[in-house]
Amino acid sequence: MKINENYLKLEKNYLFIRIAEKIKAFQAEHPEKKIIRMGIGDVTQPLAPIVVEAMKKAADELAVKETFRGYEDSGAGYDFLRQAVSDYYHGFGAEVPAEDIRINDGAKSDCGNLVDIFDDSNIILITDPAYPVYVDSNLMNGRKIVYADSSENNGFCAMPSPDGYALDGTQVFPDIIYLCSPNNPTGAVYTKAQLAEWIAYAKAHDAVIVFDAAYEAFIKDPELPRSIYQLEGAKEVAVEFCSLSKTAGFTGVRCGYTVIPSQLKTIAGDGTEVSLAQLWNRREGSKFNGVSYPVQRAAEAVFTPEGQKQVRESILYYQENARVIAETLTELNIPFTGGINSPYIWFKCPFGLDSWSFFDKMLHEIAVVGTPGAGFGKNGVNWFRLTAFGDQADTREAMQRLQSMVK
Ligand code: PLP
Repeated sequence: MKINENYLKLEKNYLFIRIAEKIKAFQAEHPEKKIIRMGIGDVTQPLAPIVVEAMKKAADELAVKETFRGYEDSGAGYDFLRQAVSDYYHGFGAEVPAEDIRINDGAKSDCGNLVDIFDDSNIILITDPAYPVYVDSNLMNGRKIVYADSSENNGFCAMPSPDGYALDGTQVFPDIIYLCSPNNPTGAVYTKAQLAEWIAYAKAHDAVIVFDAAYEAFIKDPELPRSIYQLEGAKEVAVEFCSLSKTAGFTGVRCGYTVIPSQLKTIAGDGTEVSLAQLWNRREGSKFNGVSYPVQRAAEAVFTPEGQKQVRESILYYQENARVIAETLTELNIPFTGGINSPYIWFKCPFGLDSWSFFDKMLHEIAVVGTPGAGFGKNGVNWFRLTAFGDQADTREAMQRLQSMVK
């Protein structure tokens, strides 16, 4: 027996484990201190009532012989939900047919699973800093990764390099490009013009874009794209992930969707044309039996007019937190991105500190926890992430504490 040795090359001390250890040690030393956590990206508002009702109703259906359901035929999601997602896309100007949408148990799973349909010799481009799953899921298969720097200089929106990327002493062009907008961790959002550049680049180099739109519901500016499919030509080059985790508080319920357009095709080694959707369906047919019926009914409720009204209330609640954080950083003259069209705020560590030193300072001096930017890539070493998913009173208190610390 041989293990997959690539796992041994992964970052050992996972970011959130190290943070948890530091918090535990601090709390043991100072049991009287109230720690305010603005680090982990989990939501705090409860599910919308319409969602809970839909889930209960679906559970009742399963209790009756006539309405009981077992396996779902295709595993790709019930038509009622795929159509609801398609209509939702239409609502902001992206035409995505229901057949191209596949329902899953959250974006993280498909983000990890998608690598199955691509060869390990592909060169992967990931913007740095990034959501760690993109890096890990490719390293697990031993793939070569090149990084596009997102930094203060480009507003944390890395753009394609016309000269390619350095890899093992040569310049290479990527085959698979990961983009996330609104971005985790930076909160930066690509404009339509910027995404158009990435689409043109992918076309020119026969690459696929993997577009993560998990935070699209936080975009307020109607000029900013919420889906890559709002851009012309995207369907020939892009796969998109989205999730109800942050949109509707589904982090514990688990439901998301992946779009693989029928136009996305490539030529196989034997010269035949193959659609990626065809490969993906084949993969799913063998490895996935679909999302539970009550969860899909709950997700359907999110997309009804009343559901949208109810989930909007939680989003507005978080957006108010983001506003308070952004206002505080502005007052303190601390450079930051995000917070307006995103639940993440990414700021430059004051006092010239690196992100782990700043983490320790915040924890020990004001008992506030955030996420050190170093955990998301080399361009995060002097940056820090706060999330707007906390309680409003706690967020305000944390910002008062930060003001007193920095002033
Ligand atoms: N994509 C991004 C950028 C995320 O930040 C997250 C969650 O934090 C996910 C995907 C995964 O979300 P889920 O698996 O809960 O749908």
